[in-house]
Amino acid sequence: MLFKQIDLTIDTSKKLEIIDITSKINDLIDIEEGIISVFSKHSTSAIVVNENENGLLDDFEFILKQLVSDKFTYNHDKIDNNASSHLKSFLLGSSECLPIKNYKLDLGTWQSIFFIELDGPRNNRTITLSLIGV
Ligand code: ZN
Repeated sequence: MLFKQIDLTIDTSKKLEIIDITSKINDLIDIEEGIISVFSKHSTSAIVVNENENGLLDDFEFILKQLVSDKFTYNHDKIDNNASSHLKSFLLGSSECLPIKNYKLDLGTWQSIFFIELDGPRNNRTITLSLIGV
């Protein structure tokens, strides 16, 4: 049994950006079978699994902006003016735990794993990968 942690860092270029990190993660997997936790170490970002289809990603951005509207005044904005970014992160979550099979993520045909930047652009966003397996 092997346990290993790897930090993946990425730079983002937009306020809200949906980044497919599936191939980056697959490149780092060196165990045949097991599980991987993909965890973002930032409270204004998220990790989600879904389909990488451009129209759907536009729809996802649209619905996020409807769910957490910029037209309200939020308490956290008094501190650092990014409450809506934190609130979107609350709704989406900061990690996913996924199966590994044959040295790669064992995702469904239409599934990818995404890092969601909610308060960019930022440099050195850190995603911790924790792998357990054989
Ligand atoms: Zn904040």
